[in-house]
Amino acid sequence: MRCLKTSIVFFLIALPLIGIRAQYDEDWLDREIQTKQRLLQDRRALAKLAASTNAADYDIGYYGFDLHVNVDSQTIAGSVTIRGKSRIDSLNLVELDLASGLNVHAVTGQAVSYQHGNNILQIRLPEALSTGEGFEFTIDYSGSPLTGGFQGFSFGSYNGSPIVSTLSQPYYAYGWFPCKDRPNDKADSVDITLTVPANLEAVANGTLKKVENNSDGTRTYFWQERYPIATYLISLAISEYTSWQDTYVSQDSSLTMPVMYWIYKDMPSPYTTDLALTPSMISFFSSIWGEYPFIKEKYGQAQFSWGGGMEHQTCASMGSFNEMLICHELAHQWWGDMVTCANWKNIWLNEGFARYAEALWREHIDGKTGLEAYMQILNRPQSWQNSSVYITDTTRVSAIFNRIVYDKGAWILHMLRKIAGKENFRAIFLAYRERHSMGAADTEDFQRVCEEVSGLDLDYFFSEWVYGLGQPHYQVSWHRVPASDEHWTVSVRIQQIQTTATYFSMPIELYLQTETGDTIITVWNSRRLQDHEFQINSKPLELIIDPDNYILKSVAYSTVDPDLVTNPTEFELSGAYPNPFNGSTHFRLYLPHDILGQLRVYNLAGQQVALIGDGRFRSGYRTYQWSPTTQASGIYFIRLESDDQFLERKVLYLK
Ligand SMILES: [Zn+2]
Repeated sequence: MRCLKTSIVFFLIALPLIGIRAQYDEDWLDREIQTKQRLLQDRRALAKLAASTNAADYDIGYYGFDLHVNVDSQTIAGSVTIRGKSRIDSLNLVELDLASGLNVHAVTGQAVSYQHGNNILQIRLPEALSTGEGFEFTIDYSGSPLTGGFQGFSFGSYNGSPIVSTLSQPYYAYGWFPCKDRPNDKADSVDITLTVPANLEAVANGTLKKVENNSDGTRTYFWQERYPIATYLISLAISEYTSWQDTYVSQDSSLTMPVMYWIYKDMPSPYTTDLALTPSMISFFSSIWGEYPFIKEKYGQAQFSWGGGMEHQTCASMGSFNEMLICHELAHQWWGDMVTCANWKNIWLNEGFARYAEALWREHIDGKTGLEAYMQILNRPQSWQNSSVYITDTTRVSAIFNRIVYDKGAWILHMLRKIAGKENFRAIFLAYRERHSMGAADTEDFQRVCEEVSGLDLDYFFSEWVYGLGQPHYQVSWHRVPASDEHWTVSVRIQQIQTTATYFSMPIELYLQTETGDTIITVWNSRRLQDHEFQINSKPLELIIDPDNYILKSVAYSTVDPDLVTNPTEFELSGAYPNPFNGSTHFRLYLPHDILGQLRVYNLAGQQVALIGDGRFRSGYRTYQWSPTTQASGIYFIRLESDDQFLERKVLYLK
């Protein structure tokens, strides 16, 4: 889902600089957040009630809608047939979500009685079902469907023409039909039969099987969705539309699929240029994530009265159309619709993915600079310091629809692409699809796939970036010292000075300009204060960390001359003297306050060869000595390690 305050998003095709924020509409997300917050306020009490239903005891298999939409009275009337299966032994009651304001007239089929109140419809089954046994009943109902939050079920108008549409995310499906209003239990298929005034066109999920004209001046549209679909993605859009059709050819050229557009009739449409990009976007995303998931049906885009977009399965709804919104809602067909977040705590698996898809599309069109520029637009930490990407409390209104799930969620994928590597990143999405296609997944499922495909332990990454707060603010200083044989020793100090509790563990690329060329060295940074020392074979002139901006961060560089060695104001482990050495070497430690830690010596293989100190280290200057006894000649590392410090100096021992 995405919300736009205005219909125009400005974008330059060529983006020569990073962070050109003014060219983009920055308001849509604020509006989305506000509307989502209103929605949740409406729904908070209900969510508690709904949680008390026995929804976990059964699986939904099918919804069959037969609804008459009365535009004049702004009511609906008809029936919904539901099929499902028991997940427990002795299921004798099915509890569905349905707004109390809708009137249930009858429940037929496998039902002996029903009760409707507190937004729950309880249907008593004629006999208890065992695990795996099915049920089917039809609920006749009518009334005024709920409007609220984003929209719910809306009766609106454009230039005097009616617009009827739905937007049920996250919990609003109950406002217009009896359902299991959860994202993690998909119906295997849905029939949506809509009877509307004959001058209107009714659009819904899946394939239009037929249209019948009725003698009473109405027309009936028969839509069929034959792919599994989450409750909140079932939708309708009804208006006097101008429609046209495009074609998408599948990646293997074996199938053609209609790409359909429904725009308000008589609307001076500035949208055709952007909408015409749709088939090439489907092709691009299919090329990286596998074939469009609903290839045997369609991809449609229908205009509706809400100011943004909603990724209804096979038929996205949008208030207006522009390139990036079209891109976002289309990407949701894979991430959101084909693989759905198992619950709203994991909403970033929908929104972060669709947001990153926008950046990938920019990369596809504009190249590396387009990607980089777009990602910098999403770097706005002021709006996400107090929440994690994983939403821990879905009753806390301000948290669930924070920008964080969109923007930091996209950044998490961007960083993952760097850490796992481009090929692995691509394979991760294909494997994630293969495992969870047409189902639901949570963050743990995604992490599992990432780790299996990449072979990396990504616990640190997910715990710091998805479950943790904030982002790193690096303070960087560096020194250069001439060594022997035209070599230079470079010492880079990286401090993480963010005030959030978390220190981030990241591989960081250090880009060094030297007199004879440029070089990149990757270091592993995971402490509040950490020194990285290495030798290069040319005089270093300039240092930039993370030159391609793959890390969500801010950076401050020290202005200290890299040739000057300054008095320490922070933890300091001086270079050893003499070095190289034979016999013993000395080094000096400066601590601004006492710490608990260990001072050790390691060999090149990472094995500890000496323990110089263990326990409390007093503040101030202290000089230490290491005198190898049994060690062989070679390179060793002197390390001070504590919970948040990691200082290291390299020494060369020559026997
Ligand atoms: Zn979205």
